Amino acid sequence: MQGPLIDTLARQGITRRTFLKYCATLASMMALPPAAGRAMAEAMAAARRPSVIWLPFQECTGCTESITRSHSPTLEGMIFDMISLDYQETLMAAAGHQAEEARHAAMKENAGKYLLVVDGSIPLGRDGAYSCIGGRSNVDILKEAAEGAAAIVAMGSCASYGGIPKANPNPTGAVSVSDIVTNKPIVNIPGCPPIPVVMTGVLAHYLTFGSLPELDEKGRPKAFFGETIHDRCYRRPFYDQGKFAKTFDDEGARMGWCLFELGCKGPVTYNACATVKWNGGTSWPVESGHGCLGCSEPDFWDAGGFYKALSVPADPLRIGAAAAIAGAGAGVAVSFANRAKKNVARQTHETLTVEDLEK
Ligand code: SF4
Ligand code: SF4
Repeated sequence: MQGPLIDTLARQGITRRTFLKYCATLASMMALPPAAGRAMAEAMAAARRPSVIWLPFQECTGCTESITRSHSPTLEGMIFDMISLDYQETLMAAAGHQAEEARHAAMKENAGKYLLVVDGSIPLGRDGAYSCIGGRSNVDILKEAAEGAAAIVAMGSCASYGGIPKANPNPTGAVSVSDIVTNKPIVNIPGCPPIPVVMTGVLAHYLTFGSLPELDEKGRPKAFFGETIHDRCYRRPFYDQGKFAKTFDDEGARMGWCLFELGCKGPVTYNACATVKWNGGTSWPVESGHGCLGCSEPDFWDAGGFYKALSVPADPLRIGAAAAIAGAGAGVAVSFANRAKKNVARQTHETLTVEDLEK
């Protein structure tokens, strides 16, 4: 395994073994077949660092905070070694005109090839005057930068769907990236903030295969958004048994029972928090005792009711519980069997080792 990137990593003391392990983990997270880890390692090691231009629009910087506070430096730091981050206002040393010049130079040199990352929504009210950089509106800058981009990553719920700025009454006329750009491949990585590993997974996929990963109907990578929080929640057995915490400090809450009745939106929220977790896999909101707010779904803020149980018909949700308790229900049994099968497959991926890759 040799190439420009692996040489850079070697100079930084990152061993081939660490790099292989990283690729194996990433491939497992993305539910790719075992051989993909090796292919990823080969492709990324030899890859030339693609130019990435990151535009921050109407946002709170939470998305940038999320990715810079992510996992160990040997994991997430690596991804930054795989790309040439040519413009990122929060992280770059340059400021003002110098920063704008750096962006224009990168766009010119890499026309048609750079990856554009956007976080934040785009305000259209008052001709875009609510958010400007260097005297130009976000919408102007986005249109210009999108023109030469090979693909666009809408990072976070604001860029993906408008997010909190778009919430009623939407005073700035905020919209999402895909409301403006319609002629480029766009991947949405929603979340408030988004999970850093999802971002690095998408970048790794792009570096390896030269394309964006498979997306769902809301433009999200299926590998990370293919299942609901509820599908993979460790409190799910309590849900299935009908054991629900009634307050945040009752005996049920102390026993780790399901938070459905306290407003958890896990059953209708697609994201990878329950499997990837946060802060280097330390924990995630439901594990910390709070229900999911549904932050990776469109219009989650306007949906509100964060502490109100979902008003979806109870039957489809609770049918699992009733049938499991009764030990009956063929349909439910099939669903449980399928879930068990999926788990076995996942565990197969999860037990991949560096040795497996090296074979
Ligand atoms: S309702 Fe929430 S806490 Fe309960 S099992 Fe589903 S995701 Fe977990
Ligand atoms: S648990 Fe729900 S609200 Fe919390 S970060 Fe994950 S998707 Fe968002």
